[in-house]
Amino acid sequence: MNIAVVYPRREPGESGSQGSSSDPQLFRDVALNAPTMLWVSDEHGAVVFQNEQYLRFTGLSAAQAMAPDSWLNVVHPEDRKPAMQAYTAALKVHRAFAVEYRLRQHDGRYRDVVDRAQPRHDAAGQFRGYIGATFDITERKQQEEALRASTMAIENRSHELNVLYALKSDLQVCRTIEETRPVLIHYGEQLFLTRPTRIYLHNNSRDLVEPFLNLNSELDPAEMFPPEQCWALRKGKIHLEQVRAGKPVMCPNGTRCGRTAYMCVPMAAFGETIGVLQVDLTNIGDGMTPASTPTPVADLERVGLMAADEIGTAIEELKLRARLRNQSIRDPLTLLFNRRYFMETLEREVYRARQGRRPLALLMLDLDHFKQFNDTHGHTGGDLVLKEFGKVLQATVRGGDVACRYGGEEFAVVMLDCPSDGAAKRAEEIRNATMKIASEYHGATLSGVTTSIGIAVFPDDADTIEQLIARADAALYAAKAAGRNRVQLYVAGATTGNSAD
Ligand code: GH3
Ligand code: MG
Ligand code: MG
Repeated sequence: MNIAVVYPRREPGESGSQGSSSDPQLFRDVALNAPTMLWVSDEHGAVVFQNEQYLRFTGLSAAQAMAPDSWLNVVHPEDRKPAMQAYTAALKVHRAFAVEYRLRQHDGRYRDVVDRAQPRHDAAGQFRGYIGATFDITERKQQEEALRASTMAIENRSHELNVLYALKSDLQVCRTIEETRPVLIHYGEQLFLTRPTRIYLHNNSRDLVEPFLNLNSELDPAEMFPPEQCWALRKGKIHLEQVRAGKPVMCPNGTRCGRTAYMCVPMAAFGETIGVLQVDLTNIGDGMTPASTPTPVADLERVGLMAADEIGTAIEELKLRARLRNQSIRDPLTLLFNRRYFMETLEREVYRARQGRRPLALLMLDLDHFKQFNDTHGHTGGDLVLKEFGKVLQATVRGGDVACRYGGEEFAVVMLDCPSDGAAKRAEEIRNATMKIASEYHGATLSGVTTSIGIAVFPDDADTIEQLIARADAALYAAKAAGRNRVQLYVAGATTGNSAD
């Protein structure tokens, strides 16, 4: 390192002794050439001296520096008022002080400085002004700012992780995909703030990606697109898209909803893509330009990736659970409920009917001469008709009613809040619709299917579930005995058919 000798050498014979502490020239030289900015003011605050270092720093000439307010003119305009207030206050009390502000240097750029000043007194102890030193603290300030920024980044990340953890725990409590909506809105607003955020999910046949949730606005159900149009899904990676002059760079969906920049994160779980998380980056400023320091986009990317992971896993698990549950309660051939589920429902609904004193009708149905039908058309043909009959039941029962495949070619329907005449009417609809079944099979039309239906009503015909089933069965057998293809209400003692072909 080169150390410049700034102290001017004296020629032999010059007056003054170099080493004497009372040498005024020595003090003058020290003040003028000290490697820090020095200044002196009078008791009224007017600057009476600024050293070489000060002039070099500010680029002021000695004459300019001595002009009134020259100091204030090189202070950053925003800092002038607080700096002046600090000086004015100090001048009243004659105490040492320090004040920070931005000082303009010779090239017009501002540097952070601190002025440290001590009061100056004459021999009689009278206050004569201040002796001050100005230190450039820009680097220190920058370091402090960097430290503050990194502390904030750590705090932000820890907040993000806490929100993501809470999101994950609450998603785990959800029992259906529908239940995830309020959870996703609640935590999505904390993670992405006011940025419009959308979640799209693959439909069941996976040929479309459909809107599932808009965090900050109404969902537009029409906003669906084929998966191959989505760059994030194609890449299997996060995709940033910018719309310039009304045209997206890559994504064909880019111009929708007035977005000018957005990121899409594919959501996947167990090796399967299930949808896309999209966050609007409109007005993110220069955050889209790549930079070495973290940008707002980098922060959002990180949060987006972690959120997509949690949401994807949770939704896929719920789908899986729904599939398993469906498999456990439905008959695979007709897709009607199975007998086990039906019995559970019947128990619950008979209890409710008893509490609410409302009638509940049970229909037992059996396809007529189905063995013969199978013998004629084969088992597969028979299956096809069973499937069609399932559709007839599904189309006839009301919202809360439950239709099930009781076993083989026997079915049962429970109708809530339904007296015998209403049940008989709907049973007739089923009987008539059954006769219209016509399935194409190997070039032939399978038709001529009929059904017999027995009806018993709780509590009119039975006190218990067992009795209700036995009596609906008894009515069914009476219908068979009376010639089949008919509806039979349970009649205590003797049952006779009340409808025939
Ligand atoms: P009925 O009018 O007295 O009810 O005569 P049915 O032939 O329908 O009655 P039966 O109980 O003698 O025969 C029932 C037939 O239903 C026997 C069987 O071939 C057929 N079946 C039961 N389950 C299935 C099934 O899952 N698929 C097909 N294809 N046929 C079935
Ligand atoms: Mg039968
Ligand atoms: Mg049978």
